[in-house]
Amino acid sequence: MPMAVSPERPRTGITKFTGGRLVKGNQLVEQDLWVSSVTGKILRSQEIFYEHHVVPDDVVDVKGRILAPGFIDVQLNGAFGFDFSTDAADYQKGLERLNRQLVRTGVTSYLPTLPSQGPEVYCKVLRYLGPSGVSRSPFDGSESLGAHCEGPFISPSKKGIHDLQVLQEAINGFSDLEVCYGIENLSSGIISMITGAPEVAGIKSCIPEITRRGIRFAMGHTEVTYEQATEAIEQGATMVTHLFNAMRPLHHRDPGIFGVLGKAKGKERPYYGVIADGIHLHPTTVKIAWNAHPDSFILVTDAMKTVGLPDGVYDWTNGDRWVKKGALLTREGSDTIAGSSATLIECVSNFWTWSHASIPEVIRAVTATPAEMLGLRGRKGTLDADADADLLVLDTQEDASGKRTLKVEQVWKFGVLVHDASNEEFGL
Ligand SMILES: [Zn+2]
Repeated sequence: MPMAVSPERPRTGITKFTGGRLVKGNQLVEQDLWVSSVTGKILRSQEIFYEHHVVPDDVVDVKGRILAPGFIDVQLNGAFGFDFSTDAADYQKGLERLNRQLVRTGVTSYLPTLPSQGPEVYCKVLRYLGPSGVSRSPFDGSESLGAHCEGPFISPSKKGIHDLQVLQEAINGFSDLEVCYGIENLSSGIISMITGAPEVAGIKSCIPEITRRGIRFAMGHTEVTYEQATEAIEQGATMVTHLFNAMRPLHHRDPGIFGVLGKAKGKERPYYGVIADGIHLHPTTVKIAWNAHPDSFILVTDAMKTVGLPDGVYDWTNGDRWVKKGALLTREGSDTIAGSSATLIECVSNFWTWSHASIPEVIRAVTATPAEMLGLRGRKGTLDADADADLLVLDTQEDASGKRTLKVEQVWKFGVLVHDASNEEFGL
């Protein structure tokens, strides 16, 4: 818990972190960090202390542990028993509960993700899923950065577990997207990202209009060739959804989407999400994906509502029953992988164990890089001055077998402590 410096002085709302190793670019820097719970932002330390002689309310000794920006998950379908695609009557309450639980895992902001749905579901749920940080209230927990609509304009042959019945084409152009997602949802900033297959009729020509509205277009669940992927990038696609999963594999004469990561110029190379849950991809595949273009590599969970719940059998909306065993989620009575139940910190620890990446490089894949992909550079995913003070205190462990683990010790949202692992009683 933070230590009170002097109770008599008027409070400034300022906390100083000392004794920490800060994630700054590709370095770990031993330096103090000052944050304000009034503005919810990171302060310019030197200015505050030397010019204004401000004394902090609290000093937190991080004791050599790591101080990192809060994590961002750009693909999360639900958690702690709540599914973003549900049409539950108490949706808002369920969502608020999820946000308070999710923040304890170190995910301070995220894109609530909807796998392919019919228009009636988008019409019901999208209104709840837009950016939620406007109130800047730390005790709301994890913050939505806008919805991620994954589908339904995807390839039927690469649908994965998406419902074939709701998949669509856009033969009437952008108006088909308006009918599907709702006109207001496409123009109000509620949707931050759309995953689609560029080869689905009408979709490629919609990409410029999608991106003009500030929505990221990600290629995913797709059969696109290298050439088609290149064209989609020219149209404005900037992201690839769960690289390798639900797309054409790399072939030596047709490298497919994977080939575009080898392009020479930065803007021709998209960002790409990778699921490092230990199930969707082989550890070596994850390592190769990172090596292809470390600056564009984003770790995502693609987790289902079972993440955060105990192991067991759970009912699904379509009448199926799914079995959760650790990070693995399968259809009852089969080996069919039904999605992931890994937390983002588990994916981060896996990637750190499997790769030669340094701690700052590993953390970057869930902080600065997703922030940059979403156009939030300088505001999220960094410990630079003026960024939102969403912070994690992380502990590191390595066992005899070489397994490395990062553990979330504390979570700070908008400059306020919202979770402390050493004091389970405290928090949201
Ligand atoms: Zn998917």
